[in-house]
Amino acid sequence: MSVEALTALISDNLAAVRSRMERAATEAHRDPASIRLIAVSKTFDADHVRAAARAGQVDFGENKVQEGLDKIGATPDLPLRWHLIGHLQSNKVRKSVGPFSAIHSLDSLDLLRRLDVVATELRRPATLLVQVDLAGEATKFGLDPALIPALLDEARRCRTARIVGLMALPPFFDDPEQARPYFRRLRELRDQLLESGTPPEQLAELSMGMSHDFDVAIQEGATMVRVGTAIFGRRT
Ligand SMILES: *Cc1c(COP(=O)(O)O)cnc(C)c1O
Repeated sequence: MSVEALTALISDNLAAVRSRMERAATEAHRDPASIRLIAVSKTFDADHVRAAARAGQVDFGENKVQEGLDKIGATPDLPLRWHLIGHLQSNKVRKSVGPFSAIHSLDSLDLLRRLDVVATELRRPATLLVQVDLAGEATKFGLDPALIPALLDEARRCRTARIVGLMALPPFFDDPEQARPYFRRLRELRDQLLESGTPPEQLAELSMGMSHDFDVAIQEGATMVRVGTAIFGRRT
């Protein structure tokens, strides 16, 4: 595909996604500007990122550290923000702090401590969201909700690392309505934590919703949606 054709396609897709976001926000009596679109570029090359950037997209998500770093390295001229949305192994923390402006996959105390040590050493911020395991699925990453208060507590003692919200990746359903209870559970968890005295700055963000269900996630309170297929097309 030519650069022009790719740019036109991605630009159209982005416009459609943004209008779905606006519709969902309006239905929920929310300000569309309070919801950030993260374009998930995993498996797509830097040309796709450039095409989306030309259409005004700033936030990009990657689920693998090295693939993300490669694309960050290939787009030094663009003022983009990169989000790590996949599992982070502790041996990749040093590479990730700095290049990624947010890490959505914090899921253990050990990882938090490691991130704080490295961010402090490198004098770079570490902005984190806690990935919550809402389904109790042993196959997925994410922290048991019961363990979140201790993690938030530890983060308040960190020198550099900051937790700014919660992230969820519900099981896949063909019918997005079936994901609604999971999104709602994440919001209710956030509300309970606020009620029990967690500082609101640790719970500002709810990262939830993907291509086929972000409308529902927005209705349930998402502040960040992570959208790949609806912008870049099907992954092969
Ligand atoms: C791939 C991925 C997405 C985007 O999925 P789409 O269905 O392509 O929109 C969102 N979040 C995470 C964590 C992902 O790995």
